[in-house]
Amino acid sequence: MTMQIRLPDGSVREYSQPVTPGQIAKEISEGLWRNAAGALVNGQLWDLERPIDFDCDLKIIKLDDPQAAEIYRHTMSHIMAQAVMRIYGAENVKLGIGPTIENGFYYDFDIANAKITEEDLPKIEEEMKKIIKEDLPIERFELPKKEAIELMESKGQTYKVELINEIPNEKVSFYKQGEFVDLCRGPHLPSTGKVKHFKLLSVSGAYWRGNEKNPMLQRIYGTAFAKKDELDNYLKMLEEAKKRDHRRLGPQLELFFINTDVAAGMPIFLPYGMTVLKELMSLSRELHKKYGYKEVGTPLIMHEKLWRQSGHWDHYKNNMYFTEKEEVTYAVKPMNCPGHILIYKNKPVSYKDLPIRLFEFGRVHRYERGGVLHGLLRVRTFTQDDAHIFCREDQIVNEVTDVVRFINELYGIFGFSYRATLSTMPEDHMGDEATWEKATEGLKNALEEMKVPYEVAEGEGAFYGPKIDFHVRDVLGREWQCATIQMDFQMPERFDLTYKASDGSERRPVMIHRALYGSIERFFGILIEHYAGAFPTWLAPVQAVVIPVSEKFSEYAKNIYQTLDENDIRVELDDRNETLSYRIRENQMRKVPYMIIVGEKEKESETISVRTREGKDTHGIKINDFIETVLNEIRKRVNK
Ligand SMILES: [Zn+2]
Ligand SMILES: [Zn+2]
Repeated sequence: MTMQIRLPDGSVREYSQPVTPGQIAKEISEGLWRNAAGALVNGQLWDLERPIDFDCDLKIIKLDDPQAAEIYRHTMSHIMAQAVMRIYGAENVKLGIGPTIENGFYYDFDIANAKITEEDLPKIEEEMKKIIKEDLPIERFELPKKEAIELMESKGQTYKVELINEIPNEKVSFYKQGEFVDLCRGPHLPSTGKVKHFKLLSVSGAYWRGNEKNPMLQRIYGTAFAKKDELDNYLKMLEEAKKRDHRRLGPQLELFFINTDVAAGMPIFLPYGMTVLKELMSLSRELHKKYGYKEVGTPLIMHEKLWRQSGHWDHYKNNMYFTEKEEVTYAVKPMNCPGHILIYKNKPVSYKDLPIRLFEFGRVHRYERGGVLHGLLRVRTFTQDDAHIFCREDQIVNEVTDVVRFINELYGIFGFSYRATLSTMPEDHMGDEATWEKATEGLKNALEEMKVPYEVAEGEGAFYGPKIDFHVRDVLGREWQCATIQMDFQMPERFDLTYKASDGSERRPVMIHRALYGSIERFFGILIEHYAGAFPTWLAPVQAVVIPVSEKFSEYAKNIYQTLDENDIRVELDDRNETLSYRIRENQMRKVPYMIIVGEKEKESETISVRTREGKDTHGIKINDFIETVLNEIRKRVNK
């Protein structure tokens, strides 16, 4: 027999016996072999030392290829599990699952004799380093299901037995390194010494298979990189993210707090936080007007029959809040769509009236389990900058293009770049395929016309229509899903929406749901972290603070304060009986963009000294010049 193995450069190698990607790499060059993490065999991840005995396309994956991360991080999770078993005794440790995740890996353990805390992590890391130094070969082997179960039972690995029972294949694969054996699909690095740069990050509880009825396991998170500087950069980013955590900065800067006792998942906004929200809202209002939307308002609570008709009753009830009065059940709205539909139906619509673009700052309530709540990012009530566009099919491309243009303008103000995903028709869908195709084409055309980078998520659309999600990238490179544009063929049917066409016939309009911030509160949370609390002047809750050098200059300071206040600059006076340096430091910590310091010289020359929060000082500025500069910065919403 001969096997033909085609390499990415198109060359074909012939072998008369099974061969491993490792051997082929070595034949190509010693360097490639040293840097190899695994292979892609017909597009599928493959171990470097796993024999191939069939014709295929082969690509060697090098350690610094993006696909290698999954291989070495997964190997690292095995090394961590091996270390945990060595430390706590293999007989005391039952293994859950140990997958890779974005930027890292974890493993779940059921440990009979210990509760792991963060203090234990260095000890586990030490043991992992030993295992890496031992450079144990990692070997793959297969067993028939029955023997696999026996093997895992003999080791007391009951969770693994449960997993094997659910595997449909006749044979299951294992990986072995030294004394450690794990049920695993792989692939893995050829030995434990191949990647050295890792760090264990945290410990938390996790129910077996995410089910609260199952035992609580101990999960250890870690990360690993092919190169040391990549690991260092990542750890630095995490450190920075921790410093910027909006759950810490929010209360510290007096923006918001959450009272978990009476309103878990329902943030309470303080005056400073509300100031920022109001700025975000007026920006939004301004742009909605520019893009031809009409603002509306709909009730928070409406009769259950509306929600039965919309389908929320059947499909979304578990996430909804209800209230009862005089034996009638009402629902607190989880979405604004039915309200806007009532407005559409309020009077007859002709083809000439379309598109109709209705916009609302819609406060919605959605129940989320306590365990998943997270500051402003995952909540139970929030305000959507929600709009529904009712249009004719021939208007879809135009409308979606305009929404993308709107998104570009809005996100540009914050310096956000983004990428989009287009989710297409799922197996289970409503409406005929021709309509789906037209709508999906429409979304695609709009993205292409606007030159938006996007990926297609095949079959990931909702059953009622295709959609585009926009993922914003913040200053730390983290991605947040914010805007969505969702086509809907279902609601117009359910509510029997119509318009009169030019030939007099009754037609169904298309409905487009879209939100751009998504949730204003969540967007606020993202901004707090993006700016590390140092909002650009137009957003800053306090834009300037006037600080007299001493009591002697209080009067002059008060005058300056009043002038700024009259010019609509958000200003405060800090004439507390504290030292000057203390007051400057405190206002710097509050991240106030401008500190205005006045003393003898300033009073005499009728000027001010300005100190920015970055620590830059300028003296002898005329108050009117300062006002003009700041107002200009605010008006143009300068992003700094
Ligand atoms: Zn594994
Ligand atoms: Zn909607």
